[in-house]
Amino acid sequence: MAAKRDYYEILGVDRSASVEDVKKAYRTLAKKYHPDVNKNPGAEEKFKELSEAYEVLVDPEKRQRYDQYGHAGPEMFGGRGFTWQDFSHFNDIEDLFGGGSFFGRDIFDVFFRDSQFGERRGPSKGSDLRVDVELTLEEAASGAERKIRAQRDERCGECRGTGSKGSGGTRSCPVCRGSGQQRSEKRTPFGYFATVTTCSKCGGRGTVIENPCTKCGGSGISPERREITVTIPAGVAEGSHLRLKGEGSAGAYGGIKGDLYVVVHVKQHEVFERHGDDLFIEVPITFSQAALGASIEVPTLRGKAKLNIPAGTQSHTVFRMKGEGMPRMGSSGRGDQHVRAVVQIPKKLSGKQKELIQQLSNVEDKQGGLFDRLKDNLT
Ligand SMILES: [Zn+2]
Ligand SMILES: [Zn+2]
Repeated sequence: MAAKRDYYEILGVDRSASVEDVKKAYRTLAKKYHPDVNKNPGAEEKFKELSEAYEVLVDPEKRQRYDQYGHAGPEMFGGRGFTWQDFSHFNDIEDLFGGGSFFGRDIFDVFFRDSQFGERRGPSKGSDLRVDVELTLEEAASGAERKIRAQRDERCGECRGTGSKGSGGTRSCPVCRGSGQQRSEKRTPFGYFATVTTCSKCGGRGTVIENPCTKCGGSGISPERREITVTIPAGVAEGSHLRLKGEGSAGAYGGIKGDLYVVVHVKQHEVFERHGDDLFIEVPITFSQAALGASIEVPTLRGKAKLNIPAGTQSHTVFRMKGEGMPRMGSSGRGDQHVRAVVQIPKKLSGKQKELIQQLSNVEDKQGGLFDRLKDNLT
């Protein structure tokens, strides 16, 4: 914040100026710099500066504090500089210009549009709900629908959300007189310290219900157990949060509905492992299939599919089945399925098998020439 100018300097009066002199100086300058009249950039700032200086110098108590402590004096009073709460000489301004309207505008609007004043709290939004759903991998792949029973606030059936019994309607809050705010004062060595809080009677709405509905107490909502149908899109991932707008609780006093958050859990699958949109599976193949090549059947989420194993496949080779993975959420594509072919060595052999493998053993190339390659290093 820039250093503040001297209040006497702002109004162009000397330190011995009378209250009348201060008023006169302010009247002249305020008319000149009023933002409705003066469209020059900075005029509004200047006008605020004038009003602040006026407010302090026209009040004997504040003026004395200012003379003694400088800008820190009056600021102590308002807590954070010049706010409308300090502006106790509202009537003086009205007197100066005549009437409550200031160049055709509401005087509060002119002086306080940048301040906290008038900031009413509207009807509050209904609360958000959270539900957790568990899906199988197949359901996550195809998308699913779930019916959930949950308690949420619904529009009161008795008053149809109006909060009124019969045709009472609303009236201005008697506590805050419609402002939605309550002002309280605390005495300090520098005078009164004013604070503004949300009105406890009307909750900041500025209105109260004349004759509140007996079922909802005037809030217009009541808790109900409801069955909510939740549609979960295909391709959803573990831990996804889906937001269903407006499926949460209804808001009190006509506020908008909250949202429903669905947290998705996908169960682990017995054979498929999922990484993003890709699936991984291990399939056993025999030695002869690996050596000679074969067409094998592989399970996919959409049923069985054929996979060609070429001759001479090594164990643990991974084959990619394009487009056989999870659907990509929000698009038409799919991930892939990765198949790891693992060669199985039989643990038990029949007599016939043993005989044939023995014959194979007699003709096969042992160790793939390993010793030939190592020959030079072995003695
Ligand atoms: Zn009601
Ligand atoms: Zn109130």
